[in-house]
Amino acid sequence: MKRNLSMKLKLTLWFTSFMALLAAVCLVLILFTSSYVTRSEAFRVLDTAVRSNLTRVSSEDGSLSLDTGFQFYVNGVYMLLYNSGGALLSGQTPPGFPVNAPLENGLTRFVEGGEDGFYVQDFWVPSGWEDGVWLRGAMVCPNPGQTVSSILSMFAIVIPFFILAAAAGGYWIVRRALAPISYITDAADSIREGQDLTRRIGLPPRSDEVGRLANAFDRMFERLEQAFEAEKQFTSDASHELRTPTSVILAQCDYAEKRADTLEEYREAITVIRRQAGKMSLLIERLLDMTRLDLGTQRLRRETVNFSEMVSVICEEQDTMARGISLRLQKPKEDLYLEADPFLLSRVVGNLLDNARKYGRENGYIEVRLSRQEASVLLEVEDNGIGIPPEHLERIWGRFYQVGQSRHGESGLGLGLSMVRQIVQLHGGRVQVRSQPDQGSCFSIWLPAGGASAET
Ligand code: ADP
Repeated sequence: MKRNLSMKLKLTLWFTSFMALLAAVCLVLILFTSSYVTRSEAFRVLDTAVRSNLTRVSSEDGSLSLDTGFQFYVNGVYMLLYNSGGALLSGQTPPGFPVNAPLENGLTRFVEGGEDGFYVQDFWVPSGWEDGVWLRGAMVCPNPGQTVSSILSMFAIVIPFFILAAAAGGYWIVRRALAPISYITDAADSIREGQDLTRRIGLPPRSDEVGRLANAFDRMFERLEQAFEAEKQFTSDASHELRTPTSVILAQCDYAEKRADTLEEYREAITVIRRQAGKMSLLIERLLDMTRLDLGTQRLRRETVNFSEMVSVICEEQDTMARGISLRLQKPKEDLYLEADPFLLSRVVGNLLDNARKYGRENGYIEVRLSRQEASVLLEVEDNGIGIPPEHLERIWGRFYQVGQSRHGESGLGLGLSMVRQIVQLHGGRVQVRSQPDQGSCFSIWLPAGGASAET
């Protein structure tokens, strides 16, 4: 808040100083222009007056002759007549005028004298070859002080109001523009303190920079909330999954300690403990895998993988005999290759086959199909087992999600499919499932093909 305020002040101060500077520059320009205009106007009046008399003056046989229209004083311009030697013949000089100021034909100029000086223009009016007279126009320099002082007094009244208005307007605009930043700070603060993850800035729609910033923050808060929720869910699911085998182990230990008498009873308890410990160890291993995948520490070690060969080997390793399930593999003649992490990829195939076996029908079948689809390699694992009800189809990819443990003998952890999807997505691929309850399921994964078909 303090920071925000100081920023408002800083911007307002900067803006106001800029406006004051602008006003000062304007003042200087106005003064300069006004003195220029006054001077040009004086020159014009002087020039017109002198030229209007030029044709009305002549000299004959050394004596001066003036027309009747000759005016000795026109619009503030005094007319003076000098002989060729520079002596004043006729005309009244303005007070303080230096009568003997040198004569220069056709030049309008400033001559010092009196209070403010004079503007002077001279013309040589020839008569015959050698004789002639000088006609001189002289005017008192207009006093700029009057204009300047009226401009200055006008500025002295207007400028403080102008600067005040600029400061107030600037402050208002800056305050309005920065107001959402306070909301953003408050929202971020309350999220940082863990008070309210659902909080959003929620500015009314605006398309300027601040609006876009607030939107970006809102999206980030939403993502954070989802991440926190997922994290909480994951921790609670993981603890729940670990608690069940731990309670069974403790109960069995109790039983063995207090009630088991025979070696047979001890053995039974140890078998249960072993099974539960095995489940815990598997769970911990899977959790570690997932955390590594999440953190990206298990970086993809991509290499060219002969996917056809990998799928064949994993199919051969499957123990489908126990449930009388027949496993068929269909693949193109030429081997299909992928640029992938072989270890993670074998986990994907293994998991899908494992599920097909676990949830397959006794004496049923599993069909594994491998094919090339444009730039992808498609792997389908189909079974004719218990299938998945439609309302669960979307959720089976979530962590710890199981459709129902009672549906089959072997209870899993609910982590396999979420890992499958994560690994496939890490490789730039996608997953899909089609399933009908009591008829079977077909899991498909598309992975970007690498190195095309085998040439070896
Ligand atoms: P797990 O198999 O360890 O329970 P998974 O993540 O691999 O966990 O699978 C999640 C759930 O999806 C399973 O509990 C099961 O209900 C369902 N499922 C997965 N594969 C199949 C399949 N081939 N047929 C029927 N249901 C399946």
